[in-house]
Amino acid sequence: MNSRTDVLVIGGGATGAGVARDLALRDVEVTLVERDGLSAGTSGRSHGLLHSGARYAEADRPEARACLEESRILKEIAGVCVRDTRGLFVQLSEDDPDYFEAKRAACEEVGISTEVVDGESVRAEIPDLTDDVERAMWVPDGVVLPSRLVAANAADARDHGAEVLTRAPVTGMRRENGRVTEVDLGGEVDETIEPTYVVNAAGPYAASIAEMVDATVTLHPTKGVMVSVEYDRLEPVLNRCRDPDDGDIIVPHDDEVVLGTTSVPVDDPEEYERADWEVERSVEECAKMLPPVADAARLRTWWGVRPLYEPEEAALDERGISRGFHLLEHDDEGVDNIASIVGGKLTTYRKMAEATADLVCDRLDVDADCETATRRLPGADDPEQVDEFVAEFDGQGPTDEDLIGR
Ligand SMILES: Cc1cc2nc3c(=O)[nH]c(=O)nc-3n(C[C@H](O)[C@H](O)[C@H](O)COP(=O)(O)OP(=O)(O)OC[C@H]3O[C@@H](n4cnc5c(N)ncnc54)[C@H](O)[C@@H]3O)c2cc1C
Repeated sequence: MNSRTDVLVIGGGATGAGVARDLALRDVEVTLVERDGLSAGTSGRSHGLLHSGARYAEADRPEARACLEESRILKEIAGVCVRDTRGLFVQLSEDDPDYFEAKRAACEEVGISTEVVDGESVRAEIPDLTDDVERAMWVPDGVVLPSRLVAANAADARDHGAEVLTRAPVTGMRRENGRVTEVDLGGEVDETIEPTYVVNAAGPYAASIAEMVDATVTLHPTKGVMVSVEYDRLEPVLNRCRDPDDGDIIVPHDDEVVLGTTSVPVDDPEEYERADWEVERSVEECAKMLPPVADAARLRTWWGVRPLYEPEEAALDERGISRGFHLLEHDDEGVDNIASIVGGKLTTYRKMAEATADLVCDRLDVDADCETATRRLPGADDPEQVDEFVAEFDGQGPTDEDLIGR
């Protein structure tokens, strides 16, 4: 059976759901398709840190500014999808004091508020922190519940006329005269869609979607592990204040903390080795900040794959690749009604979606402004309602499994 839509968005992670919401709010007819349940990809398998931008402040100012701006917006519009926990960057005795100073200066330059506290004061607030802490810096980090965030975006898209199809994998696409003309959906949907425009928001799978129409997206996917352990006494996010490395972030939940992560290149976003050393190293390194986590009961372990974009000219190391997003059109490859959106962060998904929706509206001659920065998400004040959205879209990922439906 064939049906048509103005915009077909492929991928039900934060980016795709955000694009669908943004377009639907601009009265554009949109269909969102996800091969699994929503959040089944990287979004539902991330570390769940709502970045204030402090992590990137000295190395990537534009990304730090984007995180600062977007984390502020999400604290306004996303309600129970985020938590305003604040975060600490801790300097241990083996860490370079100049790095701490450089980060503080860069945060100030970017506009990220900081407050430096000495080791004794911070240990008075967080008694389990290692006594090896020299000093620490408060920043406005937070926690994001990706399953809720993605489901609330999809629910708003649906409430504004979008069709949201889960268990609807794109299995093939046809192009004719420089345009994508037909997209085949398998799984439970099993139909062919004729779209006017296609948005490829398939995260680490974006390259294989682009290939279906002989277009190219050069990704440098990297995997990272998260380990959730029993611990109920941490309020802020803990970040180690040193060059980004394995096991330098602890994200607090209610009765658990999530330790992570690693960054190891993979060839395939699905078939990769889940190595024990990554788990052990993450726990060991995080325990240098918060020693009780070393022996805490391990509750869940999962991996995610970053959809990092690697332009040919910038062959940087895994952690040096920009965390900024890239919106690519493929007209130079002979197909002009498809764009791919890759890279970025969960924290900046809304901005990525806005840029994508601006482009699509321009191509479709739609004159409508973005509203997503000021409109609250449905269910933002009602955890039960938003958890019903998660269930409706089969959107439960491991990152916030312990926090949904409580
Ligand atoms: C280890 C790790 C930790 C991270 N931690 C953080 C963090 O703490 N804070 C932060 O801000 N960011 C973090 N990130 C980055 C962030 O998670 C990602 O940048 C973001 O979630 C990507 O979202 P997305 O929607 O673009 O991709 P995805 O969430 O991967 O969504 C793409 C979707 O496309 C679907 N799909 C694939 N193929 C098809 C097909 N053929 N048909 C239909 N659908 C298809 C997939 O199933 C998937 O659901 C982390 C990433 C990793 C890997």
